[in-house]
Amino acid sequence: MLGAPGSGKGTQAARLAEKYEIPHISTGDLLRKNSHLPDYIIKKMATGAMLEDSDVIGLVKERLERDDAKKGWVLDGFPRTISQAKLLETLIHGIKIAIVYLEIPDQKIMERLVNRRTCKECGHIYNLINQPPQKHRICDICGGELILRSDDTEEVVSNRLKVYHEMTAPLIDHYKSQGSLITIDCTKGQGPDAVEQLIEISLSRFC
Ligand code: ADP
Repeated sequence: MLGAPGSGKGTQAARLAEKYEIPHISTGDLLRKNSHLPDYIIKKMATGAMLEDSDVIGLVKERLERDDAKKGWVLDGFPRTISQAKLLETLIHGIKIAIVYLEIPDQKIMERLVNRRTCKECGHIYNLINQPPQKHRICDICGGELILRSDDTEEVVSNRLKVYHEMTAPLIDHYKSQGSLITIDCTKGQGPDAVEQLIEISLSRFC
């Protein structure tokens, strides 16, 4: 899944993974769930900065090698740079992948992210405006506490968007030139169900 922070990658990746019964591998979630993360990584993530390739590649490699990933996977948050895309190519030995790119304008992102709440336990994502939980601050699915991620504040979101445009957006042309990019137009403010349908139609044409 490719797209700006807040483009809906996490939500759509989880839906695709459920549908195809394959793991949803989110580098952000893997990092946040790791209780032994070194301090410098925690601090860097809190500013919205990109981590070094060496801080994430081992994590991704180990996850892709697990048994449940043999049938396929939905990667979310990786690759995030051209160099990570090249590292991924060496890990998957020429397997053809589909890159689902969620296209959305920056102004929509800010309003989404500051209203996003994430379950501390299962990672399920809510939005206070259009997908609120049934009970205030409680996850509908697992009863876990809903939190505002420390990097979903306005200042950090601006930084994440800047980093995205500088370092991740070049992947759009990279994958376009390989013929593996599926662009999903999310500029009309469609809800998650409509975006899911668009992805389904485009993926069935691609595969
Ligand atoms: P977003 O919603 O911004 O896409 P993620 O949950 O994917 O956020 O990632 C949160 C943070 O984790 C990033 O801002 C970055 O600091 C770090 N991170 C996650 N994946 C990577 C990666 N592939 N390369 C470098 N840093 C990463």
